[in-house]
Amino acid sequence: EKYDIADPIRTKAILERYHLQAKKSLGQNFLRSPEVIEEIVASAEIQPTDIVLEVGPGIGALTQQLAKVASQVYAFEIDQNLIPILEANLEDYDNLTLLNQDILKVDWRKFWQEQQLSGRTVKVVANLPYYITTPILLQLLTAPVKFTSFVLMMQKEVAQRLGAQPGHREYGSLSVAVQLRSQVEVVQTVPAQAFVPQPKVDSAVVRLRLESPWIKEISDFLQFQTFVQAVFRQKRKNLWNNLNVYLAGQAQVKPKLQAVFDALGYEHNVRAEQLALPELIALNQQIQTEFN
Ligand code: SAM
Repeated sequence: EKYDIADPIRTKAILERYHLQAKKSLGQNFLRSPEVIEEIVASAEIQPTDIVLEVGPGIGALTQQLAKVASQVYAFEIDQNLIPILEANLEDYDNLTLLNQDILKVDWRKFWQEQQLSGRTVKVVANLPYYITTPILLQLLTAPVKFTSFVLMMQKEVAQRLGAQPGHREYGSLSVAVQLRSQVEVVQTVPAQAFVPQPKVDSAVVRLRLESPWIKEISDFLQFQTFVQAVFRQKRKNLWNNLNVYLAGQAQVKPKLQAVFDALGYEHNVRAEQLALPELIALNQQIQTEFN
């Protein structure tokens, strides 16, 4: 073929040949911009020995470029109608495995064993289905296997939340969950015209490097996640109020919580959105000490 799949001419030809109607319910917005795809692939810094996992290959625009540079590509596509199209368009790439699977239902431990991925560098690269951006992200971040990095296209508003710092409006429990486990960079913003059909929201590419100095400070992730969600439940309210709700049912909440605040030097008007990750970790530890 003269053109890569990402080329607008080839994309149009494929959509017409197969009478494809993008399924909104599956978040299908296909990239038709070789430049944007080139930037995504460059951001992933793929080495010839790397394994790449792709979520939602669609008609294969990104998949094709990944298969050109990676050692092996695994692409998980939930829409079975797309599988024969992908097989036909990507038949030249023998380092590509197409899996007709829901990404949210993958048993990662089993997958790692079957594909013998331990010790390999495994990167996730995807133009995500936006209706499940957060569940996919949290699932990948908490999977019991070792990914190296994620380069993900998502709605710009979510991208801003991932990278948000304390004191900013977008800072919240999602920022904390992500920054606890990774270094976040927003790589580029992408206009709606790069997609067909065009999404109604702006998009951005985010790179997460899965390395973090904080991860070893947490002994019980579920407990910490519950704590963080409680802290940010009512963002406009004081930390003091949110923690009173969180601890309701315990004995002597007010004096014990006061002792926690005294130990950390906090006034009652401190707000959750002012606390950075190390402060949240210290607060959680102090509460556990005081209430156990
Ligand atoms: N990668 C293609 C591109 O960039 O042109 C398509 C991206 S499109 C935004 C999202 C893709 O994810 C669609 O192909 C959709 O069918 C697929 N998808 C949606 N939900 C999924 C799920 N739970 N598991 C796997 N793939 C899913």
